[in-house]
Amino acid sequence: MMCPSRSRWFLSLLLGFACVRADEPVATSGITHEWGVHDPARPRPAPVAPCAADALAALSIAPAGAVMLFDGTDLAAWQPSIWKVENRCLEVVPKSAPLTSRQAFGSCHLHLEWRAPSPATGEGQNRGNSGVFLQGRYEVQVLDNYENTTYADGYAGAAYGQNPPRVDPCRPAGEWNTYDIFFRAPRFSADGSVTRHAAVTVLFNGVLVQDNFEFTGPTAHKKRPPYSAHPAEVPLELQEHGCRVRFRNIWIVPVAD
Ligand code: MG
Repeated sequence: MMCPSRSRWFLSLLLGFACVRADEPVATSGITHEWGVHDPARPRPAPVAPCAADALAALSIAPAGAVMLFDGTDLAAWQPSIWKVENRCLEVVPKSAPLTSRQAFGSCHLHLEWRAPSPATGEGQNRGNSGVFLQGRYEVQVLDNYENTTYADGYAGAAYGQNPPRVDPCRPAGEWNTYDIFFRAPRFSADGSVTRHAAVTVLFNGVLVQDNFEFTGPTAHKKRPPYSAHPAEVPLELQEHGCRVRFRNIWIVPVAD
């Protein structure tokens, strides 16, 4: 059965891409810093049931034209790294470095699946932490949040340090989670100022957790730095944060906008 969030997500996706014309003038994010970065008083997302795995399976198949970044075989799509490929999974090697794609991307639909180490170890940000760094700058957080609380803007599915996920549909450690991330790349003027903010819509286990959220700038820890101009297309990064998080079925569909 289709998840209730699906139709709303699809509408927001259409609006997110369709409402921005190539010649549109300076965008204003409308984002205010109502909450401090990693503010402990910020309300935490409530746990909700994820969509059933078998309901998500069909949507996990890469469509024709997708760029396959990891299909279980090797790291050919990535820059040289010591991250492990084992049992058709990609595994973070602690104290190595981020994993960086060879290809650069702008606006896109990114699908990936991740699994936190089991049994779960550590607490808060030290449990199953990794991250999806769109254009190497804008992080959608990966974290084992199952029965594990932390500051709201550090939850799995957060625009880290900026916007919590609306809810928390994280599965227990050892079970696979799915992310479908619809990313709108930022634009910059000739003088380097930002003219369109980066934005994300995120489905986490089929549940809408980010609804066209506009990043206030690149991701950072305990701060929110301003935008800094960068190329229109930049490689994707997966974060090394000391936890043996696994990934599989990573593909990306570039979106012309
Ligand atoms: Mg992270």
